[in-house]
Amino acid sequence: MAEPAEPANPTKTAAQWRERLTDEQYHVTRERGTERPFSGQYHDFWQAGAYHCVCCGAPLFQSGHKFDAGCGWPSFSHGDGARLETLDDFSHGMRRTEVRCQQCGAHLGHLFPDGPPQRGGQRYCINSAALAFQPEFQNKTDDKD
Ligand SMILES: [Zn+2]
Repeated sequence: MAEPAEPANPTKTAAQWRERLTDEQYHVTRERGTERPFSGQYHDFWQAGAYHCVCCGAPLFQSGHKFDAGCGWPSFSHGDGARLETLDDFSHGMRRTEVRCQQCGAHLGHLFPDGPPQRGGQRYCINSAALAFQPEFQNKTDDKD
């Protein structure tokens, strides 16, 4: 018996993503959902490190580009352009720019032109549920008393 044709996702089936991800991570990344503002784990989180795609692990954002936009979602002035895909999104009666992980197609959030001018004027408004933070390794090899 032949396997049914897989839906659009290039890397995993919906069932495989469901196994890997929490309900909220699945809803945000695979169903283009949005977590409630101020509910995620990274909107008020300021450790040094990199933010990776929660689905495929691609490094997408750096803590040095993170800023507090007061909107309740993690906000970045820059992302890794080679690993991010932007698409026109006309849902909910608005014209927005959707941001996805290029490697696995995960929905991450949206890109708005209202970021801090001194940082380039862009705001990547990203769901915490789409991200996995990895702290920067301390470059400390010698023990000094
Ligand atoms: Zn990904």
